[in-house]
Amino acid sequence: MATDVQKTLTFYKVAAGTRSSRCNGSTCGKVIYFVANPRTGRMMPIDCDVEGGEAPSLHAPDPTQQSLFGDKVEHHHGKGVLHFLTCPDRDEFSKRSASRG
Ligand SMILES: [Zn+2]
Repeated sequence: MATDVQKTLTFYKVAAGTRSSRCNGSTCGKVIYFVANPRTGRMMPIDCDVEGGEAPSLHAPDPTQQSLFGDKVEHHHGKGVLHFLTCPDRDEFSKRSASRG
């Protein structure tokens, strides 16, 4: 069986205008984006700073601005992978979730 991690990475869409956050792992501090899991609706941290990933534009398309700027303002969605997979402090996450309650 192949154990190539790259193959198993799932990319999630990060909508344009999604606010960035910082991972609060003790050594990580990476920029992440919280998006809702399309299947469960739960928020999950997405890391766009990976090979094949892309950060979303800062602002979402604003319909009221279209007549002013036309197509000049660039908006694009980003994509990334679950930060649980890329975080150097991911052990801290699993500890936290294991000790909840
Ligand atoms: Zn992290």
